[in-house]
Amino acid sequence: TDGITVTELAEKLKKDTTDLIKKLMFSGVMANKNQALEDEAVELMCEEYGYEAEKEIEVEKTDLLQYIEDDNEAQLKERPPVVTIMGHVDHGKTTLLDSIRKTKVTDVEAGGITQHIGAYQIRNNDKKISFLDTPGHAAFTSMRSRGAQVTDIAILVVAADDGVMPQTVEAINHAKAAEVPIIVAVNKMDKEGANPDRVMQELTEYELVAEDWGGDTIFVPMSAIKGEGIDDLLEMILLVAEVEELKANANRRADGTVIEAELDKGRGPVASLLVQNGSLKVGDPIVVGHTFGRVRAMVNDLGKRINKAGPSTPVEITGLNDVPQAGDRFVVFEDEKKARQIGELRQQKQIEERRGSQSKVSLEDLFEQI
Ligand code: GDP
Ligand code: MG
Repeated sequence: TDGITVTELAEKLKKDTTDLIKKLMFSGVMANKNQALEDEAVELMCEEYGYEAEKEIEVEKTDLLQYIEDDNEAQLKERPPVVTIMGHVDHGKTTLLDSIRKTKVTDVEAGGITQHIGAYQIRNNDKKISFLDTPGHAAFTSMRSRGAQVTDIAILVVAADDGVMPQTVEAINHAKAAEVPIIVAVNKMDKEGANPDRVMQELTEYELVAEDWGGDTIFVPMSAIKGEGIDDLLEMILLVAEVEELKANANRRADGTVIEAELDKGRGPVASLLVQNGSLKVGDPIVVGHTFGRVRAMVNDLGKRINKAGPSTPVEITGLNDVPQAGDRFVVFEDEKKARQIGELRQQKQIEERRGSQSKVSLEDLFEQI
């Protein structure tokens, strides 16, 4: 309760301030209405007024986003873009992701064995780009339903021999709803029957108009299977990223989103996280969705142990007390006690929610789902 005042507490408890002051006095706490109260005094008063009141206050504490450190404009620096690849089935999303990874990762970081952690990062002419390798739709639907926005740029893969298909349209709708800029990768240019003009024509219906045609959408012809056009695509991603002015502050406690998580037999709960702001460090006390702990070990997408991960970096961590869900937010805390306290409250809240919410309507109104 970082210094809640008597007046504020009275408001929260829906009690009269004088009444509260009296009760405090009887409990041996002398306080005027503007005075900040110790945690013990607040707890005592909550007990005095009944259990529900105690919960109301604690539920307010469970909103994770309030614990994110404020950003100082002056400390914001450019950060790598986070890219999601979307498009109709069989148009070449997986091939493209593999191809980018193969050409840009293995030769740069010799010795690294690529790990599947749901995302990876490459370097193109000294600039980094992070790719989510979960299927684009899932990334958008499951994560956005939790209010998480992890993608900065969407690559819409359209096979030049097949054109716009139902999932192409779905992908466009997701990206537009999230207000994420779209770059069109016209794939399978090597195939007989490839017709990029038709793709451009069809996409004008969705307000994706090529620059040559008077619009402002970037189209990149390519062949994912032959590795052609990949450099152009990466260049365009970096160009769009520059226009977007993506920024973060590496010098503060980290926050971000869970990409995926599972229970590993030997290591316990394992979570892939995308650090979105700040820097995540080994040893950091952390709340992840409805779980909490301390970052015990951290590895990057090459399976290398690292001690620190800055903005837009995907990492895999261990040390949580339970398995979080994709799309859950995470926040690093200053001290472990606080992380545990908030984590336990959130866990308890989740259990209560699962149990059904007969009498919890008013409580649920108190916080936003995050
Ligand atoms: P996804 O469903 O969008 O992930 O598509 P995949 O990457 O699995 O590709 C579907 C099929 O198209 C596979 O057989 C790929 O080998 C093939 N494919 C992908 N990209 C290209 C390309 O640029 N040229 C040709 N000829 N085939 C491709
Ligand atoms: Mg695929």
